[in-house]
Amino acid sequence: MSKKSNAPTTPQANQDVCIVKHWLDAPKIDENTLVDDLTRHFYYTLGRDKVGESHLYLYNALALTIRDRLVARCRATRQHLRSKKTRKAAYLSLEFLMGRALGNALLNLDLTDSSRNALQQYCTSLEQVQEAEHDAGLGNGGLGRLAACFLDSCATLGLPVLGYGIRYEYGMFNQIIDHGNQIEQPDNWLREGHPWELSAPEQAVRVKFFGHIETHKDKDGREHRVWANTQDVLAVPYDVPIPGYRNEVVNTLRLWKSEATDEFDLSEFNAGSYSEAVAKKNLAEQITMVLYPNDSSENGKELRLRQQYFLSSASLQDILLTWVNQNGHNFKDFAEHHVFQLNDTHPSIAVAELMRLLIDEYELEWDEAWVITTKTMAYTNHTLLPEALERWSVPLFEKLLPRLLEIIYEINARFLSLVARQWPGDVDMQRTLSIIEEGPVQHIRMAYLAIVGSFSVNGVAALHTDLLERGLFKDFYALWPEKFNNKTNGVTPRRWLAQCNPSLSELITEYIGPNWVRHFDQISQLRRYFDDEVFQEKWRNVKQDNKARLAGFVRAKTGVEFDETMMFDVQVKRIHEYKRQLLNILHVIHLYDRIVRGDIKDFVPRCVLLGGKAAPGYYMAKKIIKLINSVADVVNSDERTNGLLRVAFLPNYNVSAMELICPATDLSEQISTAGKEASGTGNMKFMMNGAITIGTLDGANIEIRDAVGSENFFLFGAQSEQVSAIRAAYNPNQLIAQDENLNRVMALLESGHFNLFEQGLFDDIISAIRSPNDPWIVAYDFASYVEQQQQAALTYLDKNVWTRMSILNTAASGEFSSDRTIQQYSDEIWRLSPM
Ligand SMILES: *Cc1c(COP(=O)(O)O)cnc(C)c1O
Repeated sequence: MSKKSNAPTTPQANQDVCIVKHWLDAPKIDENTLVDDLTRHFYYTLGRDKVGESHLYLYNALALTIRDRLVARCRATRQHLRSKKTRKAAYLSLEFLMGRALGNALLNLDLTDSSRNALQQYCTSLEQVQEAEHDAGLGNGGLGRLAACFLDSCATLGLPVLGYGIRYEYGMFNQIIDHGNQIEQPDNWLREGHPWELSAPEQAVRVKFFGHIETHKDKDGREHRVWANTQDVLAVPYDVPIPGYRNEVVNTLRLWKSEATDEFDLSEFNAGSYSEAVAKKNLAEQITMVLYPNDSSENGKELRLRQQYFLSSASLQDILLTWVNQNGHNFKDFAEHHVFQLNDTHPSIAVAELMRLLIDEYELEWDEAWVITTKTMAYTNHTLLPEALERWSVPLFEKLLPRLLEIIYEINARFLSLVARQWPGDVDMQRTLSIIEEGPVQHIRMAYLAIVGSFSVNGVAALHTDLLERGLFKDFYALWPEKFNNKTNGVTPRRWLAQCNPSLSELITEYIGPNWVRHFDQISQLRRYFDDEVFQEKWRNVKQDNKARLAGFVRAKTGVEFDETMMFDVQVKRIHEYKRQLLNILHVIHLYDRIVRGDIKDFVPRCVLLGGKAAPGYYMAKKIIKLINSVADVVNSDERTNGLLRVAFLPNYNVSAMELICPATDLSEQISTAGKEASGTGNMKFMMNGAITIGTLDGANIEIRDAVGSENFFLFGAQSEQVSAIRAAYNPNQLIAQDENLNRVMALLESGHFNLFEQGLFDDIISAIRSPNDPWIVAYDFASYVEQQQQAALTYLDKNVWTRMSILNTAASGEFSSDRTIQQYSDEIWRLSPM
């Protein structure tokens, strides 16, 4: 039983006295020092003397060399943060899809060239060394990658923002394609070490689970609820430095690892049950063992709830401890100095946990604690898909987090009395808005908890926020319109242009100077050159080189030969029915059908690339992967398609793959059913790199089209307001019968042409397309999709027109920098000042 003024304190920083001051200075950044440090780390820290066939040790030596430089700046940044005056934000996310760190650190510290030179004495290229780094895949897709882009932008804008996440032992699975099927392999990304992180075991905190609630009276006769007999888990922080772009700022991403507490082991051990002690240790360490590989769908597993609470509790304790060390138990100004951004509902239990910590551990009254909570919590919604809305069963909560359940009940009771005052006598409204969903088993609606407990609720693109206000959360919007706001997503132009597309980056700098990397709105200056033939020629050459680079990658990974003189048509993202990879492959079948029937008069040769992971339990998504691979096999082995059509499914799509893909893409496929993709960020990476979008009016596509102009965007498909009416009277079989193209495509598919030796393999896909209940209205959008695809193809034939459009897309991508997004978060939600 832990109680009262035991509110833990970390040792004060008086050991600073003993610190040898000159070590606090950043190591020099000049090339000679870099070479010396690289050599020292290679020979001594790592104990190596030859490069060997793997470049792993050289990579590690270079990473440590760079880390030395980051650590010094990180310390300075942290000292600044520690100062009482600085208001800071904590970004809480179950996912950070970081990708590789080396290239980004080199770019941001301006050490790329000197590192390249330093590696010369090892007869190695920087590219080879970078290849040795494991891609850090602590996220599923867009949501996790957004968190990573945000960290880069926060550091670049000099904003005091701490990232908090989980240090999963196993990240996003590696995807292998075997006979066209997805196989998942564990991603043991830490096996060869992670040179960027620094652990701080002395700052570990305890997280409670299970147990029960007791009522204790203190000496003044006041009652306290006590969460007793808990099974505690230790949360140990691992800090990853996040460098800003050439500004000396280095923020921190703090990732928590779960470990067994010592005494927990000892008590068992003393009782003579060694194996039980070890078993419990394993149980504790399970919490951060693996990332759940579900994208846009809830999981409902107990271990997932444990992860969510573990992250939320550890991160809040960390911040409260720092506060108490500086301010004692005076929380009067706490809310003036802190804000917590919840990346979707995954960490929304933080609302109740902050209440618990303030009341139980720091003895605040309910009302005081509630004011602090609702002044510091801010919630970002990422999806309207009902299957993604998190609901946890009350019995599970009662068992795992009994004290949190009590607090949620109290929050709900007070909230429902507000609802009763707002809508007197409207019992329906109380049931509709209740945080507790009634039913055979009660459930906690985590999104509602997040809304009630936050001062800000934001969507991630204009349409998405609009749909939140008018649909999913309309009653909350009626109650608290001032809470709702939009923050259209963005991506960092450092990783997604400067770093992944060095040739284009150089060309842009040649024409408009180097400041666009930091001030990305300046990218609009490219507009001046869209008609300049010399510039166009250079632009095309860069794209050509990038396409050759990608073709090599595709050949190495799939054996499929892409011809870089053909149009590169690309759709890479998680496989989901709402993203409609199926629509894309139906179009591929249509192109194949045209070739086979000899309709190739104005056929524009293209290479179609698809890639993405399916959640391991998502049956239809896995079928779609199999279909793509089957169609690719048939198309690529039919001689009639030579020089006209190539199709490949790229296995294991991840951040590093996207860094090769988006610079080489001509046509970006953003074809979700309107109203389903909250924002998308892949669409922005492609646009920045001069791809032209074929897309629906969905998510940020709408804003992309507004920015670049409708003449530079291939629009098709139903609009979101139309979708429900279309569904109400949906007759796909009639649409198929009436559309010659679609009819032929379905006939090919149904004839078993793509599954000659596996009868019935695609029956479920066929039924889904033909179902009057198809929520994704694939058949409805097919005709307009094919029409716009042909439009895109014909446009591509005119190299000059296409190049103009390409340049204009990059030039109009300024507002899709995550620097813009983060500036808005800072101005409108966080109210931070740059350091
Ligand atoms: C950008 C990115 C995503 C998000 O792509 P969407 O097209 O917006 O779904 C997913 N995965 C990776 C690896 C990415 O880089």
